[in-house]
Amino acid sequence: MTHLRFFRRFAGLVLAGWFCIANSSQAQSSSSGQRDILREITEVVGLKPRFQLRATSQVQNAAAVVYDGQRFLLYNPQFVAAVNRAGHTDWAGISILAHEMGHHLNGHTLRPGGSNPADELEADEFSGFVLRKMGASMAQAQAGMAVVSDDEASPTHPGRRTRLTAISDGWLRANQQIIASNRVSAPSATPAVLANRATAPVRTVAATTSSPVSVLGKITFRDNPGEDYYVTNALSVVRLDHDDRTAEVVGRLTRSESPTYPYVLVDGRQRRLYVSRSGSIFDTSGRQVALLSDPS
Ligand SMILES: [Zn+2]
Repeated sequence: MTHLRFFRRFAGLVLAGWFCIANSSQAQSSSSGQRDILREITEVVGLKPRFQLRATSQVQNAAAVVYDGQRFLLYNPQFVAAVNRAGHTDWAGISILAHEMGHHLNGHTLRPGGSNPADELEADEFSGFVLRKMGASMAQAQAGMAVVSDDEASPTHPGRRTRLTAISDGWLRANQQIIASNRVSAPSATPAVLANRATAPVRTVAATTSSPVSVLGKITFRDNPGEDYYVTNALSVVRLDHDDRTAEVVGRLTRSESPTYPYVLVDGRQRRLYVSRSGSIFDTSGRQVALLSDPS
């Protein structure tokens, strides 16, 4: 889904060609009888669908263009179908339309010049945000980009990992809004599986009776209430084994920007839990999984 902004200068020509075809056959604003994707996308960001969606074989993949003061999203239906097949989900094609709409809504199509990495990442983040709002899981939101992006960065487009991270950032931003507004069950936040993902090893340390560690709080997990976890003065989260007299560091608390969830608990595998002001701990789908309390 190369964003063909350079294509804009030819847009007039292509659109004129398209209108000829459309007027002589059936004008088609979206895949007829199917979901009104454009309306769904604009509704979740609180906007009116002031875009025209055009299926045309005159673009290779998809493009956001302005023509005669109107905003168009052009897409090649064969390309979108191929992306859906390769990504094994219709969310893949939807993410491409959301990405192109992100170019319009971020004002990229109002500026001269071609594609650039910063604009691409903004559009990617927008697509992640929108797809989470529409109900896609993290992996579904990343599925399209995972198949169409290049491994390596180019002068106009960032590399695949950077782009998937941008989608993940948008998805998580929407997710946090949703968690904050209503804590109902939500789609899985598990990212798309990538090869070569290194897993940080969990560090194990032996506790000695003289270690000058003080304890700030105790964490009790709902599904494992018998096990004791403590937050140390260094904000490490440790699991105590009373019999072995060992303490295993299993995670860390870090401060966040969110006033609702001032701390984030990150474990050795970079999974995240969100700690509310009252000490309730939520997973990424908004389920309360633990409680942080006084270390009594
Ligand atoms: Zn783009």
